[in-house]
Amino acid sequence: MTYCLHLAHCYPSHMSIYGDRGNVIALVQRCAWRGIALDVTPIEPGDAVDWSSFDLAFFGGGQDSGQALIVQDLFERQRVGFCAAIEADLVLLAICGGYQLLGNYFLTHTGERLPGLGILDLHTVGGKQRLIGNVVVEATFGHGPPVHLVGFENHSGRTYHGPGVRSLGRVVVGHGDNGEDGVGGSVYRNTYGCYLHGSLLPKNPQLTDHLIRLALQRRYGSEAKLPPLEARLEMHAQQTMLKRLLPRRLFRRS
Ligand code: GLN
Repeated sequence: MTYCLHLAHCYPSHMSIYGDRGNVIALVQRCAWRGIALDVTPIEPGDAVDWSSFDLAFFGGGQDSGQALIVQDLFERQRVGFCAAIEADLVLLAICGGYQLLGNYFLTHTGERLPGLGILDLHTVGGKQRLIGNVVVEATFGHGPPVHLVGFENHSGRTYHGPGVRSLGRVVVGHGDNGEDGVGGSVYRNTYGCYLHGSLLPKNPQLTDHLIRLALQRRYGSEAKLPPLEARLEMHAQQTMLKRLLPRRLFRRS
């Protein structure tokens, strides 16, 4: 049986900084190596979108100015269909600026208030000092053991969680969602959000494969099996960074 999946890439012209497009490339490539066709549709302001036709979506980061350019389209044109798809377990990965816009609002450091989709119970407030650097989050997803996800963050926004959202993991290195409470990202249904650019998926194949598996089983049923695929180079990249960043006692466990 040939599997075929469809991915919506949200606003790639405005929301694709710090290598975020690499997440889409990693998903397409790890699907292709398994004989799964993953086609990608860019969604830009003004597009009419049938969200029910998608299995996956990716929403990358952007400057405050890029977020301001797309937020009206997101809120007025896409909100109803996009939120319905998320509630119907669309597999969504959102990074930084995209992640912020899934929450209730983003109050930028210049005082502009951007409305969010309100799908994640969180809000973001811009600070004067940007949170920049390498980041490691000890994350739990699927049925596997905790995984150290490696990334790079650069944001002024501090994201604070409400009771309605589960955290993806715990920050081990870096700032994460707000630099205060150690929270590193969110999970709601099949939606994953975090601050890890870098790109995230090429060097964290455990999460890449988890997202593909979720999408495959959502479309083809729980008996659909993700064919095994080695990830030697990807894991080498991940482990190289973990070795540099983690205290030795934690690196041995990763
Ligand atoms: N503009 C947002 C912020 O600075 C998001 C930045 C990003 O996506 N890297 O917080």
